[in-house]
Amino acid sequence: MTQRFLPYGRQALDEQDIEAVAEVLRGDWLTTGPTVDAFETAFAAACGAGHAIACSNGTTALHLALAALDVGPGDVCIVPAVTFMATANAARYCGADVVFADVDPETGLMTPETLDVALQVARLRGPVKAVLPVHLAGQCEDVAAMASLAHAAGAVLVEDACHAVGTRHEGEPVGACRHAVSACFSFHPVKTIAAGEGGAITTNDADMAERLRRLRSHGIERDPDRMQRQEGEPWWHEMVELGWNYRLSDIQAALALSQLKRLDHFAARRQELAGLYDTAFEAMAPRVQPLARTPDCEPCLHLYPVRIDFDAAGKDRTEVMEALRAQGIGSQVHYIPVPDQPYYLDLYGRQELPGAQRYYARTLSLPLFVGMEDGDPLRVADALKAALGG
Ligand SMILES: *Cc1c(COP(=O)(O)O)cnc(C)c1O
Repeated sequence: MTQRFLPYGRQALDEQDIEAVAEVLRGDWLTTGPTVDAFETAFAAACGAGHAIACSNGTTALHLALAALDVGPGDVCIVPAVTFMATANAARYCGADVVFADVDPETGLMTPETLDVALQVARLRGPVKAVLPVHLAGQCEDVAAMASLAHAAGAVLVEDACHAVGTRHEGEPVGACRHAVSACFSFHPVKTIAAGEGGAITTNDADMAERLRRLRSHGIERDPDRMQRQEGEPWWHEMVELGWNYRLSDIQAALALSQLKRLDHFAARRQELAGLYDTAFEAMAPRVQPLARTPDCEPCLHLYPVRIDFDAAGKDRTEVMEALRAQGIGSQVHYIPVPDQPYYLDLYGRQELPGAQRYYARTLSLPLFVGMEDGDPLRVADALKAALGG
């Protein structure tokens, strides 16, 4: 009997999702229209934020968030070394420099301590405009403490919450922006809710929301009250700054809105599966351990990374991934430290970030998606045990 292949992540679509998209296709609007508005309203409410601005993907969300802060050449942004490269690239799109912060080797997260060190390095390079904590796998560190450090350095916090849709921190949903000026989300199919491609920024600052909407559509001002020319000509519009076409379509928004209705279910199911994994791995410590958990955080886990002592097992990660694949189990590494990518090595040279190196040396993400069955975590744990030599 061949067993069902388990990828490390995948979307969970149902007939309602398909019907929601079909309804938009039968209507008048394909690109940004009423369904984007409806999604923005629902997403802001789900996050407990004043405003949500939908855009084409998580990368453009990050770029817009930094552009709306006027991040530019000469400025510095602080990004944890362990993240998807888009977090750092967003700063580069603005012409700013990136200083990489080290991470806690047990969680992969930037901490107030590693941020403090990065701020000292950054001060020598230029004014720090933004600090971007990344909620890796869906977990949060102490955002309030990181915001205090950022503010003391004259910077603000922009959360990369692409992994953390549905996570609650200190009793509030991620995206509520109590300590950050904005939070950025992705609706790529492997993320917790899917739009195909899609992203959003949440903020409580009305002016910033206005500016983000303008920047996502070429910098065009549509509000007649805000225009320089007040002749009342019906065709008139003004491009007041340089923006982009980073819009989300109504087709994508329909899918995201339909998925958002099941977010509580998705979060509960991900927690349930993570609990089954945690139990299965109890007997395998310390050779295999789940990610260390952070306090005050109820994560909606986007990934299920484990820490593996490959040296103790006498196996390397390639062998283990291949053995899992032979059993129909996908796995992935999140992430190769971004400063080790050739582009960043050319730019900044090799950096000593021992926490990131230690995290990277041991991490492996195992399948975690809503459509997994109750028996799957044990199947994966058993296969991993066998792959590590029993
Ligand atoms: C997925 C992701 C992004 C980028 O999102 P896209 O929608 O793929 O552009 C940015 N940061 C992190 C941490 C991500 O995981």
